[in-house]
Amino acid sequence: MTSSGQNIQDGGPLLPEAADLGRRAAQDAVRGPAAGRPVVTRFAPSPNGALHIGHAYAAIAAHDFAQAAGGAFLLRIEDIDGQRSRAEHIEMILADLHWLGLTWDAIIYQSDRTDSYVSALEQLRAAGLIYRCTCTRSDIAAALKQRPVRHGPDGPQYPGTCKGKAIDTSMPHCWRLDMAAACQVAGQMTWQDMEAGAQDANPAIFGDVVLWRKDSPASYHLAATVDDAAGGITHVVRGRDLFAYTGLHRLIQRLLALQEPVYWHHVLIRDTDGEKLSKSRKSEGLRVIRNTGIDGADLAASLRRGELPLGMSR
Ligand code: GLU
Repeated sequence: MTSSGQNIQDGGPLLPEAADLGRRAAQDAVRGPAAGRPVVTRFAPSPNGALHIGHAYAAIAAHDFAQAAGGAFLLRIEDIDGQRSRAEHIEMILADLHWLGLTWDAIIYQSDRTDSYVSALEQLRAAGLIYRCTCTRSDIAAALKQRPVRHGPDGPQYPGTCKGKAIDTSMPHCWRLDMAAACQVAGQMTWQDMEAGAQDANPAIFGDVVLWRKDSPASYHLAATVDDAAGGITHVVRGRDLFAYTGLHRLIQRLLALQEPVYWHHVLIRDTDGEKLSKSRKSEGLRVIRNTGIDGADLAASLRRGELPLGMSR
């Protein structure tokens, strides 16, 4: 794929050079949220499908940043969703990352970390910032028809049906953040993106988000935020598709008095239709590429240079 020069779209480096990453890390060591802390990055795949080129890029970016900074790189398997996570996907993720030539300093499984998520939820409960909600999807849809709907990045905001209501706790329920109360407690917040600079956090656009689901332990937002802090992550490296969520993660950090990382929301790799690669769209998995006999370290080197397989762009 790379040696022949075919199947390649060359648009300059995708990743800053190691020296630039090192310079950035040196700046962050003296000022901003990561100052005075040893650099730790992470790659945090959910084992509910195969990794694709976009994941490879995210993993390489996080790995290379840590390496350029003389820091640590963690692999975090986000396997809290027992219904969607599969052991065979975890095995494949590890094999794909090894094939790319990546190594990590530690591996963390979210399924081992439920106690930490429970304590975080307890802390929010003690502060009166969460409430139980028994609504089903159809309850929410019906309620939304009856009142003006506010839309956030994830669609219509929860209409607040269960807020302040006595709930039969024997019914299946989730826990939602009381966003208005949380924002009042937290006050104004900003966060730092390595490319986009300082950002105002505006978590209110999400409404009363679910922090603890009916069917699995913590939500992604709670678990990822708690784990980033527990792992001493100084730089969260992830795709721009998660940019909007960072305001919400910043709020959770503030409410739980967790340390704040710097963020690097990197460019997304897209397919021919300009759509971001996704597991659900069955974008070509790394394993398919691996099975063609291509050397993973060569593929990683090509990605670092900004060369993408044919049909992909950024
Ligand atoms: N598990 C998430 C995903 O696979 C990554 C979340 C993150 O990097 O914060 O999209």
